[in-house]
Amino acid sequence: MKKFDPATELSKLEQFGEFGGVNPSITDSATYTFLGAETMVDTFHGEAEGCFLYSRHWNPTNKYLSDALAAMEGTEAGWVTGSGMGAITSAILQLCNSGDHIVSSVTTYGGTYAFFKNYLPKFNIDVSFVIPTDLEAIKKAVRPNTKVIYTETISNPLLQISNLPEIAKISKSCGAKLVVDNTFSPMMISPYKLGADVVVYSMTKFINGKNDCVAGAICSDQEYINSLIDVNSGTAMLLGPVLDPLRSSSILKNLYTLHIRMKQHSKNALYLAEKFSEIGIKPIYPGLKSNPGYKLLTSLMNEEYGYGGLIAIDMKTKEKAYEFMEKMQERGVGYLAVSLGYYKTLFSNSGSSTSSEVPEDVQREMGMSPGLVRFSVGLDNDIERTYKLIKECF
Ligand SMILES: *Cc1c(COP(=O)(O)O)cnc(C)c1O
Repeated sequence: MKKFDPATELSKLEQFGEFGGVNPSITDSATYTFLGAETMVDTFHGEAEGCFLYSRHWNPTNKYLSDALAAMEGTEAGWVTGSGMGAITSAILQLCNSGDHIVSSVTTYGGTYAFFKNYLPKFNIDVSFVIPTDLEAIKKAVRPNTKVIYTETISNPLLQISNLPEIAKISKSCGAKLVVDNTFSPMMISPYKLGADVVVYSMTKFINGKNDCVAGAICSDQEYINSLIDVNSGTAMLLGPVLDPLRSSSILKNLYTLHIRMKQHSKNALYLAEKFSEIGIKPIYPGLKSNPGYKLLTSLMNEEYGYGGLIAIDMKTKEKAYEFMEKMQERGVGYLAVSLGYYKTLFSNSGSSTSSEVPEDVQREMGMSPGLVRFSVGLDNDIERTYKLIKECF
């Protein structure tokens, strides 16, 4: 039997526009009329199927994108947000109350780390940070009031792999929810199928792939998504991080090419990783057999999408990293920019950019060198040429 295939699941959806358009229509409205006053009351209580109340709650265009994401993840439902941080913060605040505890990977996205470390203490929510590959440390960090275990499938920027089925066992045994950020590995990995309770995304990255907007998503079971948008107590409904429907519509169209893009990102990244290895530059890339995460990732991933588009290399010092990146930009390798999942190659020095929220001593503890350069490898047709350009910059 063929394993779960996100792209095939997505392709089974048929969503039409109002006049039979091959793309769903854009509902450019904030509010909706009702023929009966009673139906409006039912909609408020979430009991009127197919009715829309107000676009902070649900918008039909957002629903199309959410349904597509849910199909891809194998979840019952989804909800789309105005940014990845909007998705992460809403997902967490929906699960935790004052006095609760979270066990989180220490190697998360900088914004997530800052939210956990600096922001949640406002609400008396305590977070313990652990190395995500250390299952014993995760078990030990769990407390009676632990409500969430949080990790990224592939961590930023060290590309460590979370053993999701094993972490899911820990979360189930202590009654906590496993929340997984799958931003680095859409389609490659299906966290919900591997035991996660909630999957969050920054769609800004691979899912949209065009770097023309920020956006996010939350995928889970219907009950949880309903709780997020409950008019009286839903974090998403009350804090209001909703995505604009015009943007939903454009992201949905990009989602349908995600499988092809992921394959090309992975193919190019593997090529560069192998070439770097050949010349003695030890790249961090989980698709290399020598990488500590290779076996685990191979056992978790869906077939055909490869090992992802991110590579990191260690230039030892920040100064060398800066010089290297400036040269690469001059030669036309790509852009010196944060973010990832773009069709052009992007590179940045993690310590001074996307992980700068993480204090330097914690960065060292994570094993992150000050000279680490992270590449988000683009969709280059001639990656051999790109490699030659990079080589000239060392
Ligand atoms: C970019 C990113 C985020 C934050 O997403 P935004 O869309 O910028 O709000 C969260 N997690 C990961 C892994 C990211 O790369």
